[in-house]
Order: sequence, then structure tokens, then C-alpha cells
Amino acid sequence: MYQQIVILTGAGISAESGLRTFRDQDGLWEEHKIEEVATPEGYEKNPQLVEQFYNERWQQFHNGCIEPNAGHDALAKLEREFEGKLLVVTQNIDDLHERAGSKRLLHMHGELSKGRCPRSRQTFLLREPFGPDHTCTCCIPAQRLRPHVVWFGEMPIGLDRIQHALDSCDLFIAIGTSGTVYPAAGFVDTANHHGAQTVDINLMPADRHSQFQYHLQGKASELLPKLVEQILQGKVINDQMLVG
Ligand SMILES: [Zn+2]
Repeated sequence: MYQQIVILTGAGISAESGLRTFRDQDGLWEEHKIEEVATPEGYEKNPQLVEQFYNERWQQFHNGCIEPNAGHDALAKLEREFEGKLLVVTQNIDDLHERAGSKRLLHMHGELSKGRCPRSRQTFLLREPFGPDHTCTCCIPAQRLRPHVVWFGEMPIGLDRIQHALDSCDLFIAIGTSGTVYPAAGFVDTANHHGAQTVDINLMPADRHSQFQYHLQGKASELLPKLVEQILQGKVINDQMLVG
């Protein structure tokens, strides 16, 4: 039976709910200039353009068609029923994990539904898309909130906490991540180093340089519910159990 599980989720699990991804083919970065909409310098130059970009993402999340899928549900169930420690780290800025019921969750790239005071770094839940009227309540004079999103060139959120969890986990599962963007791409090495089992769930076949011990090719919404059942039954992952 596992004592501590760390899970990393990426764009793949959100894509299965119908959200457009940033990096894939036809991804958002093909239509938008990263340096204009996802860097501190771009925001300084044209905050309206950046806000508009994230507001379009916001509209997509709140149009009523995007719902958590069976993969998100399975992780929420794992959190409810697993007796050991669990941390879900997500690279996604959507709130699909929360909507499925996950609470022990860390958004390492921020959250679209929050704005942040640039001075105090306090975050504020937003109930409507971004605009110049969104200001903090922590400073005098009030500061214009910036999107609570980690931009290129900025440090991801919560790395100390993630590192700490990885140092003592015995199972690390990465779901729907490209495995090419650091520091997240290095999490598997840390987990391996500390003797954890490491599992990668991805639509794509395993990369030949993959450091994961196990690779499951397929949809998170189909594979995760089965995997979570096995973990909750106290089974340890092995080659047999991953077949079929
Ligand atoms: Zn403030």
C-alpha cells in the first residue's frame, strides 16, 4: 500500500474536456505571440491585450460546455478515499480539478479565476473577466490586479512544497504532460531518485528518453478510473496490472 502519492497533471487532461491547449498543434501559441501575451514585458507594454487573451480563455471555461471528465473525477475520488498523503500538482490554469472536488491541489502555473496584487502578491478570486476596475484591497493606493498566471521567465508557484512532497513520495504519476518543460519535466527524476514508482499516462507513445518506469498510452479519462481503483484496493503497480 502506498503512503504518499504525488500526481502531476498537464494539458492532456483538460483537452479531454474540450479545452484548447497552448502547446499542441493548433494550440493557442500558434495564434498568439507568447512574448506579447505571456511575459511580464508584454504585460507592461500592453496590459489590455494580455487581459483580453486571458478573458478569452475565461469565456471558454465559463461557456457551460466544459466539464470535468472521468479523469478529474477519478483523482477527486482518490483524494477522498486514499488513506495516505496525496498532492495533485497541476500545470493547468483552469479549475476543472476543483470542480471535480479536488482540494489538495497546487496550481504551479497559477489560476485563471484569480487576479494578483503585483505589490503584495495576495490573490483575489474573480467573478467576472478582467478589466481595469479590478484592483486589490491590500494596498493604498489600490493596485491594478494582474492575471494570477505564471508567465514565461517567471518562477512556477509552490516549488518548495512540490519538492518536499516528491522527496518522500512512493508513487508519482504524470498525466497528459509533454514532459519537456522544466522544472516539471524533472519531477520524475526526483521521484526515481527517492525510490518511488513512476507512471506516465499519455496519449502519445513513450519517449525513448523517458525516465518513467511505467508508461500507459491512452486517455486519462479511461485509464485513470481503473488505476485509481487498483490503488484504492491496496495494489502496487506492476506490469501485469497495467495490461488490459
Ligand atoms: Zn495590494
